[in-house]
Amino acid sequence: MAVSVRVRIAPSPTGFAHLGTASTALYNILFARQNNGAFVLRLDDTDLERNRPEYEALIYESLTWLGLLWDEGPNNPGPYGPYRQSERVDVYREHAARLIAEGKAYRCYCTPDELEEERRQAQREKRAYKYSRRCLMNPPEGRSVFAVRFKVPGGEIAFIDMVRGEMKFDADLIGDFIIVKSDGYPTYQFASPVDDALMKITHVIRGEEHLSNTPYQLMLVDALGFERPAAYAHMPLILANDGAKLSKRKHPEANLILFREQGYLPEALLNYMALLGWNPGTEQEIFTVDELVQAFSFDRVQHAGARFDWEKLNWINGEYIRRLADDELARRLQPFVPRVEASTLELAVPALKTRMHKLSQAVDYLDYLWTDPPAPALDAETTKRVQQAINALRDVPWEPEAIEAVLEKAVADSGVGKGKFYTPLRDILTGKKVSLPIHYTLALLPREVALSRLERAALVRQ
Ligand code: GLU
Repeated sequence: MAVSVRVRIAPSPTGFAHLGTASTALYNILFARQNNGAFVLRLDDTDLERNRPEYEALIYESLTWLGLLWDEGPNNPGPYGPYRQSERVDVYREHAARLIAEGKAYRCYCTPDELEEERRQAQREKRAYKYSRRCLMNPPEGRSVFAVRFKVPGGEIAFIDMVRGEMKFDADLIGDFIIVKSDGYPTYQFASPVDDALMKITHVIRGEEHLSNTPYQLMLVDALGFERPAAYAHMPLILANDGAKLSKRKHPEANLILFREQGYLPEALLNYMALLGWNPGTEQEIFTVDELVQAFSFDRVQHAGARFDWEKLNWINGEYIRRLADDELARRLQPFVPRVEASTLELAVPALKTRMHKLSQAVDYLDYLWTDPPAPALDAETTKRVQQAINALRDVPWEPEAIEAVLEKAVADSGVGKGKFYTPLRDILTGKKVSLPIHYTLALLPREVALSRLERAALVRQ
């Protein structure tokens, strides 16, 4: 019987939700859906000092916003819980005890100073550092504080990486490493493969930064007598726009929630993330999730780091914005411009739609509705034309098409071009160089407000 596919992400709630977490979740979900598999969310939260419940909540919130939903997790447990590592500490202790009993791990009583001295000695002798196995061969007496070290069997560790093909590591280069710290908590290197095995994870799909961890984890899987995952996939690192490693502190693109705040549509960000590191081999750039499930394959995932490209994201987001129905776009814009009435927003949407690549830009286009710009000083000629506009606008039905028609007539009568006629009107009404088309700019304001701004400007001159 074929084993059913189970994949997972295992974020650590130690900071704001990271773009890399969402990207890994997406690839996991695509693979799970291709195989009718299950997608598990486990929290790697054994770093007691840095974990915060609010970071955990941010992970849920941002993944949910993106529609990257999990079949099993801390709040919707399946058969292999608990799904928080902090609640599984006994499980790790039990397996560590078993390794010790079987002679595959041992207690290490070395102090940090002693280990540091070993490291320095290796440096002085210009050799790569490996733990000396002092506590295996000749443990010091009378000490009670210990960590647990895995006795690395060495040899060659080979596995299949769905992105990179067959990978081989020389485990003779790996020193005995710590699997349980002196505080009784497991290291990532230990907890992760134990959980992957107990949670019946069949494919480990994660970031490239974990590629070098895989031989460590496979040795543990073997030592524990667990079944190895069928395969791994190490996805390219996401690099910042400047080519540097994406840093939570320096790069806004690392922070998932910022994308929502700036008005990127979740479906557009997903589409963009899929293309960051993978390409379909065709010209197609806009994909629904269903289309991604159809098209995605690990053999078209690039090996090199994937540079974040704001321009491309903006383009994709603009495409998604333009494809939204007007009422849907109005609904999504509302939180960005809470001061704008729903009916005004609906009126603005057709004009906004073609001018935005992210929803937050609506504020720049619409804030003139609630901020009164200072009246500019006009020369006599311009004042005359503003007056012509005022006259034309006084009795026109107050909606964009009718306004456009009377203004076009006023432009024709004035003898100057549209640009020259409209620029001062835009300036008076909005105080900006860029705005929605003038007939929309006017129609979105109540007529009295529009006319009073124009009249005030014409008066300043007189
Ligand atoms: N907690 C690790 C991380 O957030 C999980 C790595 C893994 O997928 O094994 O990077």
